[in-house]
Amino acid sequence: MSEAVNVAELFGKNVFNETVMRQYLPKTVFKKLKKTIEDGAELDPSIADAVAHAMKDWAIERGATHYTHWFQPLTGITAEKHDSFISAPTSEGKVIMEFSGKELVKGEPDASSFPSGGLRATFEARGYTAWDCTSPAFLREDAIGVTLCIPTAFCSYTGEALDKKTPLLRSMEAVDEHALRILRLFGNATAKRVTPSVGPEQEYFLVDHEKYLQRKDLIYSGRTLFGAAPPKGQEMEDHYFGAIRERVAAYMKEVNEELWKLGVPAKTQHNEVAPAQHELAPIYEQANIAVDHNQLVMETLKKVAGRHGLNCLLHEKPFAGVNGSGKHNNWSLTSDDGINLLNPGETPHENIQFLLVLSCILKAVDKHADLLRESAADVGNDHRLGANEAPPAIISIFIGEQLEDVVDQLCSTGEATHSKTGGTLKTGVRTLPDLFKDATDRNRTSPFAFTGNKFEFRMVGSSDSISSPNVVLNTITAEAFKEAADILEKAENFDAAVHDMIKENLIAHRRIIFNGNGYSDAWVEEAEKRGLPHLKTMVDAIPALTTDDSIKMFEEFKVFTRAELESRAEIEYEAYSKAINIEARIMIDMAGKQIIPAVIRYASVLADSLGKVKTACPAADTSVQEELLVEVSEYLSDAKVALAGLIDAAEGCAAMEEGRDQAIACRDKIVPVMSALRAPVDKLEMIVDKDLWPMPSYGDLIFEV
Ligand code: ADP
Ligand code: MG
Repeated sequence: MSEAVNVAELFGKNVFNETVMRQYLPKTVFKKLKKTIEDGAELDPSIADAVAHAMKDWAIERGATHYTHWFQPLTGITAEKHDSFISAPTSEGKVIMEFSGKELVKGEPDASSFPSGGLRATFEARGYTAWDCTSPAFLREDAIGVTLCIPTAFCSYTGEALDKKTPLLRSMEAVDEHALRILRLFGNATAKRVTPSVGPEQEYFLVDHEKYLQRKDLIYSGRTLFGAAPPKGQEMEDHYFGAIRERVAAYMKEVNEELWKLGVPAKTQHNEVAPAQHELAPIYEQANIAVDHNQLVMETLKKVAGRHGLNCLLHEKPFAGVNGSGKHNNWSLTSDDGINLLNPGETPHENIQFLLVLSCILKAVDKHADLLRESAADVGNDHRLGANEAPPAIISIFIGEQLEDVVDQLCSTGEATHSKTGGTLKTGVRTLPDLFKDATDRNRTSPFAFTGNKFEFRMVGSSDSISSPNVVLNTITAEAFKEAADILEKAENFDAAVHDMIKENLIAHRRIIFNGNGYSDAWVEEAEKRGLPHLKTMVDAIPALTTDDSIKMFEEFKVFTRAELESRAEIEYEAYSKAINIEARIMIDMAGKQIIPAVIRYASVLADSLGKVKTACPAADTSVQEELLVEVSEYLSDAKVALAGLIDAAEGCAAMEEGRDQAIACRDKIVPVMSALRAPVDKLEMIVDKDLWPMPSYGDLIFEV
């Protein structure tokens, strides 16, 4: 048995949270800061010094030596540069510990090496990090010691966003403003703020670290680029929710403890569908904190794995043939007076406010389906979306039986008079309780599913930041709310106007609702008939960022400027090309230096054996050796031809100018040749003596953790 943990004591231990602030800050400063954090009021710069001193005292008492502005550049992960608290030594050779308001509020990392998509040429490399007080500072404990981490936004000299945080905060302000207008229309005079709530479910794989080190593909790209299917995969469905193995359990325990200390409300853990695949879900929080916390979750999953001789793979598709990993982004809108705008209540047909909100979201998602799809695009996710394990690459909305019935009533007769109820579920066993059934079953195949009082966006990749999906959800919803409020605020007869608007929205955007099987081919055809966009790959999705509709909307709500959108598109094309090129080079390396030599060794073992047997016993049957030799030689020459093709393709693409054309070339010229090389190699792995095969197999990796 492992040690007992006092979670209540542990939780938030390393966070500069309200309790700490109350204790360390002068009352007036505390009040001002709280006003900014809670009501979104402008930050009063005069409090910066007092806050900095308090943070420093608290951090140093806890053993901190350094502080860092922690930010989220467009690499999708976090970045930091550490500064120690020490001042210049005094004449007696002593130092004191210093941290000023100026250092808290503004940082200036040398920004030239972060992707900026042309927003900032390297010669004008200035970039600033700005303190984001809405997300609490925290202490990180690791081999470096204790570091005070200050969440920040990262902008260029000219104020353009160079990160994932700034647009998120902007989008939260946009949806806040227009959601409040909707609440006011329904007579709510008390709410001061509406915030998006987000709960991201994080999937990941664990493999043994020693085995990981023997796989160059895992080391360099986070996924296997070769590998024959093991005798058993996930077909028995015995891993999903299965009992958690001891080694993994010890790992999960430590992950939870680390996260709790950081104030991340880790809640659920279980085994996922694929062998060696697991999931962690926190309790939902306001969007910007959820985004920060998800970064901490990913970082912690990786860090703690190292302490257990494990390696955590966050890639969307580490192994072919078994499920990949995603991130379900649960999203809702909550007011500070406790109303979840997405809560339909018991009788949705009577809940006009909910129906308006629902119809606005249907409109928003239908109108900007391409953008929502784009927000989940990353290189690894191309292997998942549309591959019968994750949602298709087509955006549609599942609203469930109960709401679909209400929508039907509204669209056909113009009136909704009743809501279906769930009733009770009879277990048929006297000793078991009867359960209240939800009014709606689940649909796992839908990319955007209404699940009771929130939408669950299931397309997001497991390694990706959840910022972009939430920026899009917040902004498209803000737009739909604004359009509704502009009309309804002027209506003479509000009841009639809102009724008409709900009906109009539903009729106009009904095509986006799909409650059937999203994995079926029939749906792909049906979606095309409905005119829904089907953007199969990341490269197909990127243009959605810079359509006229997208630019107009993002500029109107001050979330992105045209230049920022164009730069992001450019960065994504580059990221795509670079990732594919790296994968190609890894395959070239592994095939040329490890696999082909191993196969040649095996062929010579076969040839030796053939010669020896023939000499020793001319009458013996050597057909097995001969057949194997022929087979191995054939696959070997296929592999060699494909390898030469891959070298050509990779060189050709690398020589191109960066941008969309290069990304398209990588997708169309490199990716197919990678498959052509993999196919004979995977066949060879099934033939060649295991002792000669130069790396652990799929079976070794996913069944022996
Ligand atoms: P489900 O069973 O529908 O997947 P869970 O209760 O397992 O839902 O929750 C999944 C995630 O959704 C968790 O992170 C949870 O905190 C989050 N969640 C629950 N309610 C909401 C909500 N109203 N808004 C946003 N996220 C939510
Ligand atoms: Mg879920």
